[in-house]
Formats: sequence, C-alpha cells, structure tokens
Amino acid sequence: MPTDAELRRALEERLRFYKDLGIYDFYRRPVPDAVSLDAAGSRPIASGPAQSVRLGAPRDAQPAQSAKPAVDPGAALRLIREDLGDCTRCPLHKQGRKQIVFGVGNPRADLMFIGEAPGADEDIQGEPFVGRAGQLLNNMIKAMGLRREDVYIANIIKCRPPGNRTPEREECETCSPYLFRQIEVIKPKAIVALGAVAAKTLLAINAPMAELRGRWYDFRGTKLAVTYHPAFLLRDPRQKKEAWKDLQRVMKELGLVAPPRTSES
Ligand code: URA
Repeated sequence: MPTDAELRRALEERLRFYKDLGIYDFYRRPVPDAVSLDAAGSRPIASGPAQSVRLGAPRDAQPAQSAKPAVDPGAALRLIREDLGDCTRCPLHKQGRKQIVFGVGNPRADLMFIGEAPGADEDIQGEPFVGRAGQLLNNMIKAMGLRREDVYIANIIKCRPPGNRTPEREECETCSPYLFRQIEVIKPKAIVALGAVAAKTLLAINAPMAELRGRWYDFRGTKLAVTYHPAFLLRDPRQKKEAWKDLQRVMKELGLVAPPRTSES
C-alpha cells in the first residue's frame, strides 16, 4: 500500500497531467473507508453516485466554450478512453456487451450528436450509429452539408443494454460523466441530443419530446438542441419533416448551408 504522502503526490501529478490537457472536471464517489486502487494504482474502485468536482479551473475565467482547445483533443480523448479501461462500473459489463462503444469522429468537431446507447450492430463494430438508425443519421448529417467524419458521435452510455432496452437511470449516471469529459475536450459549438433519453440525461429534466424540441438549451456553456432519435424516425417517417426543422435551426447557428439536392438525396 502506498503511504498517504505517496498517494497524495501521485494524485497531484495525475491532476496536473489532466490540467495540462485542459481537463478540470473530476468525479468523486463517496468511499466508506479506505480508497482501493485498481491494478494500475490509478482508479478508485467504489460504488455510489458520482459527484462532479471542479478543481481550480482557470477556464472559469474564460468565455464558456468559445475557443477551441490548445491541447491535442485527440490525445485527451485517448486518455478518457484509457481511464474507462475495460469498464465494470455498472452491471452492463456482465450482461452481454461485447465491447465499449466510446465515440467516433472529429475530436475538434463543431457539432456533436448524442444518442442513447449502442445497439447490436454498434456492439459488434465498436462504433456508434452504424446500424439502420446510423444510416439515417448519416443522411441527416449529409443533408446539413457535413460528412460523418466532420462531426463527433457518441451515446449517453457506452455499453449495449440487453435486448436494446432503455438504459436505466443508474447506468446513465455512472457512464455519462465520461461523455461529459468528451464534450469538455471536444468543445463543440452545438450539441444535438437524439431522443428523449439523451435530452433528459444531458439536461436533467423530465419532459416529453414535444416540449423538449424547438428551443436552445445551455449544456455547461454549449448550445444544445433536441431532435427525434433516428430509430424513432424509422418507425414514424412522417416526423422527418419536424426533425429537419430542428436540424435547420442548428445549421443556422453554425452558419451551415444545405447542399443542393440531387436525385440521390
Ligand atoms: N441508437 C443509439 O442511440 N445509439 C447508437 O449508437 C445506435 C443506435
């Protein structure tokens, strides 16, 4: 066991490293007695709701989310992935998930799409939105004049729930701090929450989709819009018109112009 002084020094070093990468939010769990460390000696293993802790962040003095990070966001994202490890923090790790689906896209993206949870295709391929809903999301991105690789795509939780059931609140609470760190690193100009689970988790409000859509929200200094989940649009294609209105609002905010329609689009 390291002594208190050693542990303190190691923690200070680690925090300095994160700070250099522009990461200031940490999540502390209440630990009853001693803190047990994982094999690498770096990650507290404990249960209980995560609390956000801000450690002397100079960013408080900066205009929120206005500037792109000076640090390499790709490296910072890799660090978050490393911290996740072969995650066993919630029961999903023993409920048939094949792999963690971290997120994909441009680490400097101006626009982030956030869905609910990986489905079967995503679980196999390790990438969000690669199934039928993903095809539709790709078309939505294209209609906005962007390519999939221009944006960043992630989910509220990173492991597939059995049978594609809706993620449970505790799973969202355990997993979403990693997503919040991804957002903090990428610093998009806008976030689109796809569907009610994403919207409710990010905004911490409980309201039906009809009330959630059609306005801008603030997510920790970043503009956030809510639209229908592509899987819902596959079930009810008449709502695509409404989703397109939501995306047009986002395009206006980002100064994007829709490409001319071709016979294929
Ligand atoms: N649905 C989601 O919410 N996320 C995915 O990655 C795929 C389908």
